Amino acid sequence: MGNFGNKTLDTHVRLMYYFYMDAPKTLQAAIAYFADPQRAFEAAVNFRWPGGNVTCPRCGQAKNSFVRTRRIWFCYVCKKQFTVKVGTIMEDSPIGLDKWMTAFWMLANCKNGISSYELAKTLGIRQNSAWFMLHRIREAMKSSPDFQFGGNEGGPVEADETFVGGKIKNTHRKHVRSKYRGQPVGGSSTKAVVMGMLDRELRQVRTKVIPNVKRDTLQNEILANVSKRSTAYADDAIGHFDLAEKEFVHETVNHLQEYVRGQVHTNGIENFWSLFKRTLNGTYVAVEPFHLDRYADEQAFRYNNRATKDNPLNDTDRFALLMSQVGGRRLTYAQLTGKGTHTLCHPEAGPGPEEPF
Ligand SMILES: [Zn+2]
Repeated sequence: MGNFGNKTLDTHVRLMYYFYMDAPKTLQAAIAYFADPQRAFEAAVNFRWPGGNVTCPRCGQAKNSFVRTRRIWFCYVCKKQFTVKVGTIMEDSPIGLDKWMTAFWMLANCKNGISSYELAKTLGIRQNSAWFMLHRIREAMKSSPDFQFGGNEGGPVEADETFVGGKIKNTHRKHVRSKYRGQPVGGSSTKAVVMGMLDRELRQVRTKVIPNVKRDTLQNEILANVSKRSTAYADDAIGHFDLAEKEFVHETVNHLQEYVRGQVHTNGIENFWSLFKRTLNGTYVAVEPFHLDRYADEQAFRYNNRATKDNPLNDTDRFALLMSQVGGRRLTYAQLTGKGTHTLCHPEAGPGPEEPF
């Protein structure tokens, strides 16, 4: 039986029983399956309320009546209607569930992602709409980890960071180290630093765009994500591992070791970077630093839920997992484009093209 991080596939299959009974297995089958509006609707309801107990997204109460002809519910407590999209990343979207389902399927399963141009063409919608959809789906792909890597047993964890974008586009930090070390991201800069950590036993990756590669910044990420008993492996070139012999690191991440041989390497996380760069270079050519976090979340979702010998997940499983994460999340256009109150606003961020073709 497979695992979705710390959730078991068994639980998923049980909850999604009705979907799994006749679930599509390929993209082609998924498009045909969800082209039926009633089926797309039923699948969305099934994922939104797995037990079948439809609760109001506003008040959480289950006192409602269903208006079958319009596929809406009326909440007796709020005296308001709601659809299956309310309270999910699809809220306020005029795009039909049939198209949403296909888009979820594609982003969950296309190894190198899917550009907004390609999605627009597939679904017959505008590129701008497809761009917004994809970013909302990335929001659903974001993991919300409530545990530290390494765990109580102090398992092995790799940590590494990489540069993406601008003049030093997609360059591993070891090639730019001396020139760019410690420079902040943002302002006139177009490059970004992504920090990544890999739990070797869980085979899970976590990523985060960080403002610089200063020691404190890197150490704080490790402190937040890695348990103190863990063995952390990392390249010693960057600041945090210059501190290997200092008290601070000894107190936090024990057994810090330099890159040498055997178990002491960062090959796992570097492999993740190469997959990420391939997606960025091949599919999302002009990514704004402001949005980079979401592209990393997307890549991490597919990586963390990839099929392995011990965990033979398929496309249907990844789709089902993603669908189980659409509720309780929102990403508005204003937040996305930085026209709202979002503090990380990049002045040029907007629904621009991701690729020149
Ligand atoms: Zn209500």
